Amino acid sequence: MLIVLTSDCSPAQRQRVVAAIEEAGCTWTPLEAGGRTLLAVSGDVDRLREVPLRVWPGVRRVVTLTEPYLLAGREHQREPTVVRVGGARIGGGPFTIIGGPCAVEDAETLRRTAEGVKAAGADLLRGGAYKPRTSPYSFRGLGVEGLRLLREVSLATGLPTVSEVTDPRHVEACVGSVDMLQVGTRNMSNFDLLVEVGRSGHPVLLKRGMSATVGEWLLAAEYVLAQGNPHVVLCERGIRSFDPSTRNVLDLGVIPVLRARTHLPIVVDPSHATGRADYVPALARAACAAGADGVIVEVHARPAAARSDAEQALEPDAFAELCEDLRLLAQVTASARTHAERSPGSP
Ligand code: PEP
Ligand code: MN
Repeated sequence: MLIVLTSDCSPAQRQRVVAAIEEAGCTWTPLEAGGRTLLAVSGDVDRLREVPLRVWPGVRRVVTLTEPYLLAGREHQREPTVVRVGGARIGGGPFTIIGGPCAVEDAETLRRTAEGVKAAGADLLRGGAYKPRTSPYSFRGLGVEGLRLLREVSLATGLPTVSEVTDPRHVEACVGSVDMLQVGTRNMSNFDLLVEVGRSGHPVLLKRGMSATVGEWLLAAEYVLAQGNPHVVLCERGIRSFDPSTRNVLDLGVIPVLRARTHLPIVVDPSHATGRADYVPALARAACAAGADGVIVEVHARPAAARSDAEQALEPDAFAELCEDLRLLAQVTASARTHAERSPGSP
């Protein structure tokens, strides 16, 4: 941390700053530059973050040189995190494919969809039991009954499951029924929910808030990690923009940004990013080429009858074709990544 003092900083003002630094257990070195004094602070500078030095008289600027997300950052851990969900793995090498309906609707549709997802060779089954909907009049999911159906179909197919949790009070029931908890875009900043999923110790798929910066997203991940739960996967699902041609704008540029800043695995959701089934395969392939660790794709046995996000659901056959393409592409991407990893970058 660098603390830049004003040119007219009085000895008493400077002493107050120095005392705060020392009280936090940090050390400091004075530097003279451009007629000003800078205090270069080292040690556990996070203890100083709570001190409002920026507004103290005699202080012109405070520059922090480390990121505030301590556990999510690559300075904390350089090797990629691998999250295990049932028998599946996300991060650190394999390309993981998650498929399934937006919402769990009924036993028969879920069973048929899950069988299609399994036959396509996907690694995990998705399906929402609690649906956060923009309109209160839309279908909001089957709740506990949806969780029960997911568990049943998981046992029948052997596919581990991921499902969204929208309320801290539902975490326990979700943990008992599914293998991974999804925190949706609308809840990325629901800090009580993040703490609760953190406490559960269950794997978490943390979607990016629709207008969240990378810094905000990684701090949301930090909430989960800070509870002692290291099993966090980030999911880019498109951000809000001005153009209604697609539902959101898929930010693939965020993949190398995240790689540079965090060790957490990255999954891409081309379904919510585009909102249209015919646009999904191109962006799923692009995500793979850009170095994502996996994709999560909405699939429905009969999209025309789907009760939510019908326009973006792939039919099982189209999903199977996409999985085949992704497996081929992932081999090329893996060797490209191995090459890049040989020339180490710094966080
Ligand atoms: C979903 O996965 O069905 C969902 C609601 O996603 P998001 O939170 O990204 O909108
Ligand atoms: Mn959906």
